[in-house]
Amino acid sequence: MERKKRSIWVFGDYRNYFQNRVTLQLISRANDLAKIIGAEVCVTVFGHDTDEWVGEYIAHGAMKVYVCDHPDLKFYSNDVYITLMERLVRRYEPEILLVGATTFGREFAPRLAKRLKTGLTADCIGLDINEDGILIQTAPAFGGNLLTKIVTPERRPQMATVRPGTFQEIPHNYHATGEIVPVPLPEDLPKDRIRLISSERQPSREQKLEDAAVVVCGGRGMGSRKKFKNLYELARVLGGEVGATRPVVYSKWAEDETLVGQADKHIKPKVLFSFGISGAIQHTAGIKDAGFIIAVNKNPNAVMMKMADVAIVADAGQVCTALIRELKKRIRS
Ligand SMILES: Cc1cc2nc3c(=O)[nH]c(=O)nc-3n(C[C@H](O)[C@H](O)[C@H](O)COP(=O)(O)OP(=O)(O)OC[C@H]3O[C@@H](n4cnc5c(N)ncnc54)[C@H](O)[C@@H]3O)c2cc1C
Repeated sequence: MERKKRSIWVFGDYRNYFQNRVTLQLISRANDLAKIIGAEVCVTVFGHDTDEWVGEYIAHGAMKVYVCDHPDLKFYSNDVYITLMERLVRRYEPEILLVGATTFGREFAPRLAKRLKTGLTADCIGLDINEDGILIQTAPAFGGNLLTKIVTPERRPQMATVRPGTFQEIPHNYHATGEIVPVPLPEDLPKDRIRLISSERQPSREQKLEDAAVVVCGGRGMGSRKKFKNLYELARVLGGEVGATRPVVYSKWAEDETLVGQADKHIKPKVLFSFGISGAIQHTAGIKDAGFIIAVNKNPNAVMMKMADVAIVADAGQVCTALIRELKKRIRS
């Protein structure tokens, strides 16, 4: 009987390509893990006119791409995609299957895991391999108050959804080669119970928070919506992006997509400003890859102040206004 090569699979979630590059980030991490367990990195691509994405995944580290390209797969469909994936997984038996924690991935992965009768760790922020060659999946647990390490010792594949921005993608390599395995569309796939009438792309932000080199993050200590608005001005002057904590987003001082932390974005700026933020674990989980941190807080003992490279004990609103003034002066002179 043919012995199957060990493999780590990544679901090709290319429709979110310009909003987040989570598939590329997962391919990169899969390559690290594959070296440890001696596996190949495979990506699945379902859709229509997918050549561009197949090439993109190979250029970013995919060794093999299973492609099911058919007009019937033009739109995402949970029923159809899950059935297709279930059959491929049963046939090729990957050790690990990684899915981006995007809107689609969060719906797709649990339902697929149930079909495959395997475990799934949702919203991981870390992936490693233990001494037994088993995937360690790090994820927030107990309402986000703890980070937990989860393993799936018996069931296969070991499945995880992973937050966009958790890992760095491998740079694009035009010379990379990979195997493309065409997958014919089975005739007996279920009819989709949901019919998509139309779709519209939301205009993308000029620079993405996850990729910004400078991020100005604000918390409840900014005091009011009006004062928080100054952080946008500071970010503009610095050529950066604005991030926020959950209370800020809940109070509508900032847009939902600015939320930094375990519930949303992981950022990795070279310089991070943190204004009026206490440093709760749910927030700091999203800034662990930040370079140089400058924190402003009235409380010198705040966790954020201990994490910072420069900790300024002062009123956050006043420091923000003073910084804007000084920077503008320097730009003019
Ligand atoms: C399941 C779950 C998921 C969560 N996910 C996230 C997440 O993804 N991201 C996230 O951010 N939070 C998340 N939270 C919330 C998190 O636990 C904290 O409540 C939140 O991060 C605190 O935000 P904050 O630092 O703005 O506010 P606070 O904790 O209230 O801190 C305000 C800080 O401002 C300082 N301050 C007050 N006035 C001033 C002033 N005038 N000048 C300077 N400093 C001042 C205070 O000393 C304090 O340190 C989550 C919580 C749960 C339960």
